[in-house]
Amino acid sequence: MKIIKNSGIQLIDRGWSIACDVTRKNKTDLLFVSHAHSDHTTRHVLENTTILSSHYTEALIKHFFPKLKTNNFVRNLEFEEVKFSQVSSGHTLGSTALQIDSYGKRVIYTGDVSIQKKGKLIEPFRPKKCDTLIIESTFGEPKYQFPPFEEEIKRAKDLIEDYLLKNIPVVLMGYPYGKAQILYDNFSSLSDNLILHESNLKIQKILESVNHNLSFNYNSYKCMRENNLLENKKPWILFSPLISGRNEFLRNLKSKYNARLFAFSGWCNFSSYKFQMSIDHGIIVSDHADFNELLGIVEKCNPRKVYTIYGSSLCFASELKRRGFNAYPLTKQKTLDFYL
Ligand SMILES: [Zn+2]
Repeated sequence: MKIIKNSGIQLIDRGWSIACDVTRKNKTDLLFVSHAHSDHTTRHVLENTTILSSHYTEALIKHFFPKLKTNNFVRNLEFEEVKFSQVSSGHTLGSTALQIDSYGKRVIYTGDVSIQKKGKLIEPFRPKKCDTLIIESTFGEPKYQFPPFEEEIKRAKDLIEDYLLKNIPVVLMGYPYGKAQILYDNFSSLSDNLILHESNLKIQKILESVNHNLSFNYNSYKCMRENNLLENKKPWILFSPLISGRNEFLRNLKSKYNARLFAFSGWCNFSSYKFQMSIDHGIIVSDHADFNELLGIVEKCNPRKVYTIYGSSLCFASELKRRGFNAYPLTKQKTLDFYL
């Protein structure tokens, strides 16, 4: 098998070739998209390319790229001795990892990954024995060790409940696709006055079009502001993209309504982040695996070869080597031949 890193990962073997999470033009007619974050998607596909993705990823891609040259989305694919299947990667709602069973050997490409259970919506990645593992390493350094998810959610809940009791509204910030769904899942029961920023609303409507059960009672921020309801409906919870507290939008919410700002990110693990982002509370919740989770995945998959990609790929590969794994970083434009 040949593995090529360019704007994504390309795997080529006996009679098949698949591009994974490419962000630019690619030449294969089989593409795997693990999830619909912009660093994993491309609008530049060949005509009638077959795209392996989840229903959620398909809906989001179609929304972001309405002129995509293909409508050929599939969930799994099988021919002769080769089977491509998707399993939940635990990163976002609908994110998947790719499992390739080819002539009796197994390759797993994780995309962005997490093995922690983060509520009812997102199934965590469940590591499986494989021959070759291609694993993301965003937090692949020992300094990236985060507290347990439940602990941080409990800390945030206590703070939010306390503010709401004092009639103080809160703004909960995270990416509108990925983090936001974790926040709705864990915090929407705390208030009857839930508000979605327009960016969150747009993504939520797309996800609801795939699964009506995701719908819950919320108002749009625009509607609340235009009808001057933000004062009367206090205290509320506003779900917003993660932006700096110095941004005019948030400065207004603070000065007019005394709102408190919560950021949810793995980067909150570093005290400087809170000041850098000018927020009131940093809650350490990431949709990526931290260093120990990544190690756990590799140990459970117990592959003969590991390739590290994205983020701290060099550091994580050397940490794996120290632990006896046959690990290599995949850096840009690197081509490797390996045999299943
Ligand atoms: Zn992602």
